[in-house]
This record gives sequence, C-alpha cells and structure tokens, in this order.
Amino acid sequence: MEIKDLLPCIADPSKYRVIGRIDVENLKEVAPYLARVLPNASYNAKDGWISFKKGQRIITIHSDGFVTMTMISDREEALSILKELEDKAKLAWEKRNEIDITKPLQKTFVGALDVYKYLPKTNCKKCGEQSCMAFAVKLLNGEKDIKDCKPLFEDRKYMGIRETLISLLLSAGYDLDL
Ligand code: SF4
Repeated sequence: MEIKDLLPCIADPSKYRVIGRIDVENLKEVAPYLARVLPNASYNAKDGWISFKKGQRIITIHSDGFVTMTMISDREEALSILKELEDKAKLAWEKRNEIDITKPLQKTFVGALDVYKYLPKTNCKKCGEQSCMAFAVKLLNGEKDIKDCKPLFEDRKYMGIRETLISLLLSAGYDLDL
C-alpha cells in the first residue's frame, strides 16, 4: 500500500483528502466479496468500484487499486485505513465461499445537507434552481442530474468537491450517468 497524494479536504481544511493505493491481487474478482464485509458499502459491478462511509469519511476503492478518502486526520490514519482495506480484502477472498454476493447491499443514507457541503455554494442559478440547497434536494429526488451543476464540471477549482460528491452519491447507491 502507498499514499500517492495528501491534499487539504474541501469540506474541512483541517483534514486531508487522500489518494492512496492498495495492493490486492485480482481486485476486480475480490471486489464483490470485499463490498460485503465493509459496513454500508455500495458496489458498482459495471465499473468495479466500492464506496462506503466510515464515520465522516467517504472512501472509494477503484478497480485499479486506487483509493480516495476524505476527512482524514493525518498520514498515519490514511495508512492504517489502507492496511485495514488490504486485510479485509484478503479475509473476504479467503471466506468467499461463505459470502453471498447475490444479496443486495444496504445503502448509506445521504441527506441534502451532505450534498450541499460538496456543491460550489455560489447560488449562481445555472442549474435552473434558486440556490445550491434547492439543487441538492432535487438531485436526491432524481429531478436533477449532477451534471446540471455546470460549474462543478467546468471549473477546475471544484474538481475535489466534485469527486467527493460523486463518491458520496455512489456510496448511497445513486446510479450516476457520468
Ligand atoms: S449551478 Fe451549481 S453552483 Fe450554481 S446554483 Fe446550481 S448547484 Fe449551485
């Protein structure tokens, strides 16, 4: 395992957003089993990612082994989570015959305030809504698409919150058309 990048977390600048990597053989095959041993995890079979909330942190494991994590206190915490993921992946694979991967996964609850935290908060109305909060509510209701918030996709400075918002929505089981 290794840490690739440690950046200030947008939601809370006293914390870090971390990009790391886990070393798991055949992760694509292991992923559906790993998703079942991680509490409240969501798994996307098409793209092979797993996303879940651990306290305030949103953690996404990608099929190539890259892991993104938000709200991390320090490098040690990031390494400890990566190690835990490697251990759980190993365990899940060893116990794969006992794990029912056909069982639907429980979805994480995401509220409008959670979504709002990762929007630009400029109330620019480009999405057709009066405010970012109104957009957050409609996004969760399926009345808006995440791409309707154009600044989130067009302005590089929002790249970090965009990635986090996508992970958050995926962890809650939203099927995003990206
Ligand atoms: S386009 Fe995005 S930033 Fe602008 S009001 Fe809508 S949600 Fe907020």
